[in-house]
Amino acid sequence: MRRKIIVGNWKMNLDGKSVENLITGLVSRLGEFKHLDVGVAPPFVYLPMAVCLAKEKSLAIAAQNCYPESRGAFTGEISPPMLADIGVDMCIVGHSERRRYFNESNEFIARKVRTLIDNNIKPILCVGEKLEERDAGETLEVVGDQVRKCLSEVGSDEVGEVVLAYEPVWAIGTGRNATPEQAEEVHRFIRGIIGDMYGEDVSSEMRIMYGGSVKPDNAYDLIAKDEIDGALVGGASLALEQFVGIISKVL
Ligand code: PEP
Repeated sequence: MRRKIIVGNWKMNLDGKSVENLITGLVSRLGEFKHLDVGVAPPFVYLPMAVCLAKEKSLAIAAQNCYPESRGAFTGEISPPMLADIGVDMCIVGHSERRRYFNESNEFIARKVRTLIDNNIKPILCVGEKLEERDAGETLEVVGDQVRKCLSEVGSDEVGEVVLAYEPVWAIGTGRNATPEQAEEVHRFIRGIIGDMYGEDVSSEMRIMYGGSVKPDNAYDLIAKDEIDGALVGGASLALEQFVGIISKVL
């Protein structure tokens, strides 16, 4: 039985006071939700405060990015050992905004996944097709290629550290979510690829979140699907009641 997981991706939003209020509010509500994992990904500068506020509470703190080297002349970048040093639990990689605005390739993302695992930080690996790729019938080919390439440096004894997130690009921040059936088809396909790469035992344990315009009113139908193990939530994770509204749909 896979434990469900909901993670809020705060992107480049909020300020220190609102991060503090949101985390304090969330932590005070988490007692109601012991049957699932909950995490948030604040901007880098608020991570130390977030880790401190979430300490010994059941709220995971994720970074939104990292650089795939431990140290060196990479001005402005943050390494997995640095994230580990301040107590970060997880890190989002492969988000479509990074692929689009920063030209990140599957090969570069694979190196991030590797370095995160080497530093005991769980990668949240995002994959997903663009609208034109879906319209051209290329969804499974694109997503399959992303999964295989981004996990190419990970062995079967460690891939359990990874949480996958299927995020169709056309559904992110658009208010247009994939239907539960569309999402489930891709999730089942991804699980099949994990089975090919690592075997059935590993694939049946692999958690695959859905991301893309998840809101309190569509969360239940998505997360109730057998193949959907939770949600990566952008916009709706910025307001406490909306985010809790989504978390509360995980039964
Ligand atoms: C995201 O950016 O990961 C995301 C899912 O955003 P939104 O929920 O706003 O579509």
